Formats: sequence, C-alpha cells, structure tokens
Amino acid sequence: MKESSGDKERWSKFCPKCGKKTDELFDSLCRACFTKGIKLIDAEKLAIPIRVNVCEICGGYFKGKGAGKERTSIEEVVTDAIRKDILERYGHECKVSAEGLVRNELKGAENRVIVSLRVKAEIKGVEIEERGEIEVSLKRETCERCSRITGGYYAGIVQIRADDRIPADEELTMAEEIAYSGLGDADFISKETKLKEGLDIYVSSMECGRRVSRQIVKKLGGGFSESRKLYGRKDGRNIYRVSFSVRLPAFTEGEKVEIGDKVFSVEKVRKEKGIECVDVATGERTFLKKKETDKARRHFFFLEKRKPVLKEKK
Ligand SMILES: [Zn+2]
Ligand SMILES: [Zn+2]
Repeated sequence: MKESSGDKERWSKFCPKCGKKTDELFDSLCRACFTKGIKLIDAEKLAIPIRVNVCEICGGYFKGKGAGKERTSIEEVVTDAIRKDILERYGHECKVSAEGLVRNELKGAENRVIVSLRVKAEIKGVEIEERGEIEVSLKRETCERCSRITGGYYAGIVQIRADDRIPADEELTMAEEIAYSGLGDADFISKETKLKEGLDIYVSSMECGRRVSRQIVKKLGGGFSESRKLYGRKDGRNIYRVSFSVRLPAFTEGEKVEIGDKVFSVEKVRKEKGIECVDVATGERTFLKKKETDKARRHFFFLEKRKPVLKEKK
C-alpha cells in the first residue's frame, strides 16, 4: 500500500481498521477512523484542573506566580490550555481555535467554573470539531494592585499648584478627571489631598505620575518638574518616591478673569501683589489684590466646561 495518489492507484488503499477502500490515508487510516481516534478535549488531561487566580476585591483574573502574575480572563486561560494540549498530542503544526465559550457557574461551588465550548482543529489536513466542557478551579486572593491600594501604596505625588494664584476648583476638577482618564490597567490613585494651595494626587507609579502631569500641562497649560527622594531599598535596589510639581500658568495680560459674577479683563500682572484690570461690564478700572485673585477663576474654564473635552482618552 503506497501512499501516492496517482489515478492508477486510486482506490488501491485499504483502511487497516475498518477495511474500507480509500484514496487518502491519514496516519494510515481512512478519514473516518482517523477522526474517530481523535479527542480534541482530553477531559482526563485537562481535569488536572486549570487554575486561575481571582481577586476578591476587584474581581480580576490572574495567571502565573508571584510578581510575574498577569491579568487574564477565564476564556483566555481555557483557550490556551486547550491549544497547548492539542499541539502537544497532535503536533505543533495543528491549527486550533476555541469558539462559543460560555461560563457556567456551579451552584454551591463558588471556586469552580465549568466552561462549555466548541473546539475546532485542523490535524494533518483534516478538520475536526468537538463540543465539550472544561472545568476551571478558582483560587481566591487579593491581587497586587488591590493590596497596594488597600495599603495606601504610592510611588509618586502629582502636586498641582498655580503660579501667583490659587488654582480654581474647576481647574483642579479638570486635573483630577485628566488624571483618572489617563490611568493604565495597572495604575491607580491611592489618595487625593485637597490643600489650600492646590491638590496632591498620590499615584501608583512614577510612569503614571509623569503621564498624568504631562497630560494636565497639555490641557491646562503651565509646566512641571520632577524631583525624587530615596524612600528605601528593596532587593538591593533603591526605591524612590517622585514628586511632580505641576505649575498651572499665572494670569496673563489680556485674559479674562471671573470673581463671583463679575468678569475682569487683565491689564497688568504685578507679581506677588495682584492684577490691574478692567471690569468688563462697567469699563471701570480696578486693582485686584492677591487675596482677591486667589478666589478668581480663569474665564476660559467657564466656557470650556460646556465642551466634553475631558471624555477623550490619550
Ligand atoms: Zn477506516
Ligand atoms: Zn484586585
């Protein structure tokens, strides 16, 4: 029985298992016998339960161990396990896909989840589909991010201030929204402190602090600088905490400033002292002392509030 498939040799092969004549053999068997012998979902092998860690606080799923833990999903873990098992048993050139994954929670067994799914694979050129169920065992824990949040952890402080004035509440609200909308998956804000002169936002990483500062400056103007302080040592490395000093711009000549229901046009800024300005409604010239400008808000923000500029993400 040669495996060539010339016309003359058509029908010259027999399946040793069922005795049927065939023109194509797969692993020396006919297609039906070959397919019958394949089990895409090897329940026994996969019964060594697929383990996934689940955070009791945020509900996130994680795989791996220790610091190398990665965020994942039950579906991803099941698909990976199935694929790995099929490739191991039937060869790494197989194409495998899992579809229609549905999670079924088991009543009274909150640490187990049954996932039903459809597995498709192409093995030695034969397409095979199988439906089945896989059990996943959940290990409850508190993820690193949540335990850090609970512990008040932070690696940097974004300190928002303004030059020669107090930032308006609107500006701080905007800065806060910018900070939250710029957080990545692993980032968090552990604390915020409203101060007389501005706002301190405690962030989970230096990168996060830098990104937040950059975005605040991009939207609200001004600039920022960084300074780091040695905080301790861990695994032989220095650990720093970084302060990001964000300075929102001072009032500038020509801009409009609001105090209560009055709008003033800024004529001259006298550093540390106050601003010379004109009441827009009456045309009256007046001098606003620093104490008064501390309560002033930039007219710009009053208008800007109506535009949903903050909804956009980086
Ligand atoms: Zn056969
Ligand atoms: Zn968590």
